Amino acid sequence: MRLFDWLCRFAAMMIVIHSLAIASDLDDVQKLINTGKYEEAEAFATEQVERGIWNERWPKTLMQVQLTQGKPEPALKVYEDAIKRYPTSLSLRMLGVEALRRCGKADEASAANNQILLLMQTAPSRYASRDNLVAMGQYFAAKGEDARQILELFFDRVLDSDPTHLGACLASAELALSKNDFQVAADTLKRALEIAPENPAVHYQLARTWATSDRIRSNQSLQTALDLNPRHPPSLLLKAEKAIDGEQYEAAAAILDFLLSINPNHQEAFGLKAVIAHLAGDFEAEASLRQKALTTWGENPNVDHLIGKKLSEKYRFTEGAAYQRRALELDSGFVPAKFQLSQDLLRIGQNEVGWELAKQVADEDPYNVVAINLLNLNSKLSQFASIEENGIILRMSSDEAGIYGQSVMDLLSEAKNTLCDKYQITPNAPIIVEIYPDQKDFAIRTFGVPGGAGFLGVCFGRVITANSPASQGQSPSNWKSVLWHEFCHVVTLEKTKNRMPRWLSEGISVYEERQRDPAWGEKITPIYREMLLSESLTPVSELSNAFLSPPSAIHLQFAYYQSSLVIDFLVDNHGSESVLVILDALADGLNISDALEKSVGSLDRLDAEFQIYAQKIANEFAPDADWTRDNIPESPSTEDLERIIQETPNHYWALRTLAEKSYSLGQFEAAKVYLETLENLNCFTGESGDPLYLLANTRQQLGDALGEQAAREQYDQLNSNSLATLRRLIEIFSEQSQWDRVLEVAEKFLSIHPLLEEGHLALANAAERQNQPEKTISALNAISQMAPVDPALIHYQLAKAHHALGQNQEAKRHILLSLAEAPRYREAHQLFRKIIKETNPIEQDQDLNSKVNTDSPESNQDQSTTSKDGSANE
Ligand SMILES: [Zn+2]
Repeated sequence: MRLFDWLCRFAAMMIVIHSLAIASDLDDVQKLINTGKYEEAEAFATEQVERGIWNERWPKTLMQVQLTQGKPEPALKVYEDAIKRYPTSLSLRMLGVEALRRCGKADEASAANNQILLLMQTAPSRYASRDNLVAMGQYFAAKGEDARQILELFFDRVLDSDPTHLGACLASAELALSKNDFQVAADTLKRALEIAPENPAVHYQLARTWATSDRIRSNQSLQTALDLNPRHPPSLLLKAEKAIDGEQYEAAAAILDFLLSINPNHQEAFGLKAVIAHLAGDFEAEASLRQKALTTWGENPNVDHLIGKKLSEKYRFTEGAAYQRRALELDSGFVPAKFQLSQDLLRIGQNEVGWELAKQVADEDPYNVVAINLLNLNSKLSQFASIEENGIILRMSSDEAGIYGQSVMDLLSEAKNTLCDKYQITPNAPIIVEIYPDQKDFAIRTFGVPGGAGFLGVCFGRVITANSPASQGQSPSNWKSVLWHEFCHVVTLEKTKNRMPRWLSEGISVYEERQRDPAWGEKITPIYREMLLSESLTPVSELSNAFLSPPSAIHLQFAYYQSSLVIDFLVDNHGSESVLVILDALADGLNISDALEKSVGSLDRLDAEFQIYAQKIANEFAPDADWTRDNIPESPSTEDLERIIQETPNHYWALRTLAEKSYSLGQFEAAKVYLETLENLNCFTGESGDPLYLLANTRQQLGDALGEQAAREQYDQLNSNSLATLRRLIEIFSEQSQWDRVLEVAEKFLSIHPLLEEGHLALANAAERQNQPEKTISALNAISQMAPVDPALIHYQLAKAHHALGQNQEAKRHILLSLAEAPRYREAHQLFRKIIKETNPIEQDQDLNSKVNTDSPESNQDQSTTSKDGSANE
């Protein structure tokens, strides 16, 4: 039996010895530590150790304070003396290992580490104090043993006997956090908060617990930690990480310098400085900072792991992966690096190795929530269909692939040709596009954990993940515009070697959506108009922040719009080459400010000119409307609004609110007056909730067919996501037998929801009447994949379309399939006789019923039943 398993059993039976009551002096020194007064704490603890007070906590505390300040040599000295007095203290021994490592004594550290194992093996009962049980748990956690068992048998056990044991709480939360189990971390920390609300370590761990799910809460916890102790190294490191995430590199560097003033040997601080140097394109400084980081404990795999992880978060997956490999060279068993490497590889499209590594991690570490999620997803992915064309690998569920896979591929291929040409790049590896029918799977593939409900698609460079319409309820987004947008990210990321700020990438993607189809992408709305004219307009030089810490959801949405406007501005004022110059400069390693200056000159001038440009766009939008909100009371009554309109007849908000009120009361004549006033002001935008939509409905209610049609068509020109509008336009154009228009509208319908029969049916009908049998066939084929309501009809129509193309063999196959569903289908019989007559007049009297009534559709497909018809037209 392995030692770990044996100890687990043993731990379960162990009677925990009560540790010594904590002296009030220890409380005092802990207060000094909690508030960052490390020098005073060190002096105090040194005094106690020198006085020889018999309590192992004194040398431990002293060593901790010394290690916190980057003084491993004196800490080692304390250890060497103390271990003679307290040979059974495992936690002291672990601090000793730490001190040896940081003194650069790798061999001795490793020997001391092995000795801990040996001691536990020989006489475990000697190490049964609570502190030792926590230390044992930490020891085995570092060795990668089963985390669930460690939690239960070491940490929970200590907490059962002493619910106020802070060390057990913190160790337990740390372990849960390292496995992305935020729920367990949160539960444990709730208890820690009751035990020691003044301990910054508790708040620091809370900040990490909320980091991915609740940014505001996380920031608050971090702030509390630093309010308690402005010199708390882990919190300072986390704060620097967050500043790097927010592209605030100068602020991050200042925090790290402060941290290094507390501990001049802080390895991770140097690591993060290396990250900042890399992002600034200063690769020499990056190398020397990494070297500095590794001067103390040269084998610490966490330094390279941290640098790589931060680079990957900046989309530098290739560089990030290289760092994880370096970490694994230092410690081949370092699971966090192995797992990060697997994530990196999956994001740069090296799926085979990526999945293999994820599997290894899940096998070695069954508590790694993200790895297990990924592994479950991989088995689902293996069922996906794969379509390859033009250097693109498209993977989607096989059901969906049969229905609209080819349309997706056509769109992606068009995006590739158009955008690669425009941005002058040639991807030298395939682009992988994965479309998920289940949002949860999308989230796991994209973020590792469920969540991310607002995302339709995500691009990592050469990998795009997207949600299929199946996962988006009643009103999915236009998948064509989503994929066009994401593909544009592929192109700009490739162009800059993934070295671009998010705002620029989003700005170009939204801009290119509008270039491809004016109905796609963000456009001006009354709210955006107000934001353009207020301080919500962010200077170009500060746009990164608009994405990284938006005050609200609408601000984030506006950030997309504003960024795309910057591209409009650049193209209008400096030509489209100016964008290429910026991208090339980024690819060369310049930061965004330098890249912008290289392309268009002074940043201050750019900010000023863009502001004028943006204000002009805002002011030119519906200039005759009165946009003020000042004269509207908080909850205006109808009378209030009518009074406003009497005073200012073009008052946008009063007109819109009155129109909505009248419509909801069924007062369509009144609604029409307000809506048509708005129409004359040219203020329709096609946004969801736009009064134009109401105008169309109002006119429909009033029986104004022409007026309704005009409004629907205008709405359709402005909005690419309205299934209801397209449904109605199909009805209107079908009644008018305008089949070319039906065809056009049905194609738009399928760009939103290809998984509904109705769009394909409209397309098939219109295409048939327009004599476009190929289109009819592809639409009907799609329907036949989705358990159609009337399969006999679908096969009959397919037969007609194939017959129109002279494909008689195929036509007959579908007639037989149709008759298998409905044996007395008269039109099908007639078509069959017609085909026989055309192809082989001798057989025209053949009794068809005898052939189809008894056969299954499968056997009807058999060549032997149909080949004797001898069609020569196939
Ligand atoms: Zn985007």
